[in-house]
Amino acid sequence: MNPPRVIAIDGTSASGKSTNAKLVAKALNYVYVDTGAMYRTLAWHCLKRKVDIHDAKAVAGACRSWKTSLVCVEGQVRLLVDGYHPALEIRTDETSAAVPHVAAVPQVRAWMKKTQRACIQFGNLVMEGRDIGSNVFPETDFKFYLDAALEERSKRRAAEGIHENLAARDQRDSQRAVAPLMIPLGATVINNSRLTSAETSKLILESIQAKPGIAP
Ligand code: C5P
Repeated sequence: MNPPRVIAIDGTSASGKSTNAKLVAKALNYVYVDTGAMYRTLAWHCLKRKVDIHDAKAVAGACRSWKTSLVCVEGQVRLLVDGYHPALEIRTDETSAAVPHVAAVPQVRAWMKKTQRACIQFGNLVMEGRDIGSNVFPETDFKFYLDAALEERSKRRAAEGIHENLAARDQRDSQRAVAPLMIPLGATVINNSRLTSAETSKLILESIQAKPGIAP
């Protein structure tokens, strides 16, 4: 039997990674993994436990000792903390601002990589994030990098009622020392400023299906 296949979708904030990764996962019947949600979950956990997110040692300690488990529900992987799935809590402005700090801690990135690679237990994956093609699954042949003009991305977030400084978050993500946001080697880059999600996901699916050995 072939080993599970991983489709890596990386990119800037609000570049349509989640929407397109879900569409691609649905079309291929693969399991969807939102790695941003995992980092957000740790940031939320640190805030809840009053761990100073600017203290890398304290954050590494929290990551070492938290009690987590991975489950797959309706084709989507969830990271549970003490058996709980914090779906809404991790989307607050406070968590969004905290998460790049937590995500820059090397021990956190090592823990996340191990945990994200363990998702392969659930089968073929569409995994979205910032370092999936460059660091978590560098061996995959299926790498995509999504981007769109900052103005367009800000508009998309505003339509969801979120007014966030996306440029600041992207800058932090791009400049960290370990596994920064970058275009993975060999990735197909899609700028979707003028594309709908249906068009973007179609491009991704066509590119996947163009690879030898992949059934249309
Ligand atoms: O994708 P989302 O916007 O939810 O990600 C939240 C944050 O989590 C990112 O801004 C980044 O700091 C961190 N992240 C990361 N590596 C990933 C996924 C997310 O550093 N693979």
